[in-house]
Amino acid sequence: MARYRGAKCRLCRRERTKLFLKGERCYTDTCSMERKPTPPGIHGQGRFKQSEYGMQLREKQKVRRIYGVLEKQFRTYFKMADRKKGVTGEHLLSFLERRLDNVIYRMGFSRSRDEARQMVTHGHFQVNARKVRTPSFLVKVGDEVVLKEKSRKMDRVLDAIETVKRREIPEWLEPDLPNFKGTVTEFPRRENITMEIQEKLIVELYSK
Ligand code: SF4
Repeated sequence: MARYRGAKCRLCRRERTKLFLKGERCYTDTCSMERKPTPPGIHGQGRFKQSEYGMQLREKQKVRRIYGVLEKQFRTYFKMADRKKGVTGEHLLSFLERRLDNVIYRMGFSRSRDEARQMVTHGHFQVNARKVRTPSFLVKVGDEVVLKEKSRKMDRVLDAIETVKRREIPEWLEPDLPNFKGTVTEFPRRENITMEIQEKLIVELYSK
């Protein structure tokens, strides 16, 4: 499974916004966006004027990076969203939110989506009593996500549960952190996604 292995803070600086890719550090003064919020590279500090295409591209890259999805997979989500009735951009975000790695992060069992992804591939989680090792697994209403008994003492899980108060748990998920499990109570709606995302720009980009 391919994924980006470079410096994560560089991605935030590139997108000129905090993408919260590194867990706890993102909430402290050591966050690179607090110390050096300019894009990387020698032209990073220069003035720039962005074209319409540039804005659409940056928005797409930002969302792709938030969820840690590569271009090919992102485009697949877009095609799936485009085939559904309703607002394509909202369906796109809903598919991304329903990924198992995102659900685990959102429920508070990991400090970042990257960490959640690794825990899924290592087989620490079950969905409806069956082990799932695919981070892109899409959850459905009624699914129960459970951390395996043997994995409940892992420092990173305990640390994530301890620090989850910093984050807002979306309404469509009902975590039961003391029992290391959670339930999907409804499909994510647009208002559940509080990050600043202009999905319309992504739809415009892919509709060219
Ligand atoms: Fe982004 Fe700051 Fe987190 Fe680094 S520490 S990933 S710059 S939000």
